[in-house]
Amino acid sequence: MNVLVINCGSSSLKYQLIDSVSESVKAKGLCERIGIDGRLVYQKAGGEKEITEAAMPTHKQAISLVIEALVNPKSGAIGSLDEIDAVGHRVVHGGEKFASSVLLTDEVLAAIEECNDLAPLHNPANLIGINACRELMPSVPMVGVFDTAFHQTMPKKAYLYGLPYEYYEKYKVRRYGFHGTSHSFVSKRTAEFLGLDLKQSKIIVAHLGNGASVSAVKNGACVDTSMGLTPLEGLVMGTRSGDIDPAIMEYIAKKEDLDIEGVMEVLNKKSGVSGMTRGGSSDFRDLQEEIKAGNELAATAVDVFCYRVAKYIGAYTAAMNGVDAIAFTAGIGENVALVRRKVCEYLGYLGVSIDEERNEKTFGEETVLSTDPSGVKVCVIPTNEELAIARETVALL
Ligand code: AMP
Repeated sequence: MNVLVINCGSSSLKYQLIDSVSESVKAKGLCERIGIDGRLVYQKAGGEKEITEAAMPTHKQAISLVIEALVNPKSGAIGSLDEIDAVGHRVVHGGEKFASSVLLTDEVLAAIEECNDLAPLHNPANLIGINACRELMPSVPMVGVFDTAFHQTMPKKAYLYGLPYEYYEKYKVRRYGFHGTSHSFVSKRTAEFLGLDLKQSKIIVAHLGNGASVSAVKNGACVDTSMGLTPLEGLVMGTRSGDIDPAIMEYIAKKEDLDIEGVMEVLNKKSGVSGMTRGGSSDFRDLQEEIKAGNELAATAVDVFCYRVAKYIGAYTAAMNGVDAIAFTAGIGENVALVRRKVCEYLGYLGVSIDEERNEKTFGEETVLSTDPSGVKVCVIPTNEELAIARETVALL
């Protein structure tokens, strides 16, 4: 079965065509600057990356171009549109309505639209992508895979905030969590890789990318996660502050003469390791270079980042009354040995010790880093959200 996986943003769209039997990627790429001018990136498995400047005023036109590229007689990955058996769509927010993936019907789309308020930057864009695909491929089944779904197993004590209860009842203010597809994929794979029984395991997943979150997965189900109502809560991220004293918002608003939108812009886009280095890069490759060059602010930002991750691991060890394995994943978790080492330095009380040499040499590969086979295991497990979406799509159909 060929599954087209679509991750649609407001002006961009990433896609992968995955053969669900071999789980190989037949083609992948992205459309950028949709509604502005338009650029299509297309790469067939084993082929060169092709970049085409092409007008794409709407998402429908962008997806048309993707389909054209996929069936192109010279460089296409398939012979015709009929070879796309299903489309799996990433949907950011499913609220409390969706605890698992779902076949996209008119009724379901209306229910997703009701979650738009909770993710105003993401859900409307996801819906535009879904509708465009439905118009272009009306007979192909479509599945929605939610970033929030995996976290719906959290108990009330983990998802309720200490706020007036009416806000939960009236406005659904609660912790939802994000990166669920990744946390689900990585926790399952961690158990397999380490030979643990998922149903009797306590796993902490540290998804450390530009957006970053930690989750506690007990017996295969999420019991807590660091992102909240929105992806702003929790870890210090590339440009997001993560947890702060909420009173800082009023204080900064007064000092800097900002309205609430202005403060939110600061917390979402001008904070994190970028803000901590006075508007420097949020990319850990650059931060590592800066540290080498003696930039103390960069060193401090990375320290703060790692300390926060370690504190969440400590909290989630308590939440599960123990931990069997800790998995690092996503861009930073998979590639930045410095971060993994610094985080693990705080975990000696759990008996964690890692093989320094192996840690330094691990880039994006499944690897056990811990040295003591009897203690808490620490590993790197690359995430693959597209494959997870393809698997979910096939499982549902
Ligand atoms: P993600 O959001 O998972 O795509 O992660 C993106 C982030 O991972 C980038 O902003 C970098 O900070 C980091 N990253 C990705 N690849 C590397 C690498 N090879 N070395 C260091 N950092 C990396």
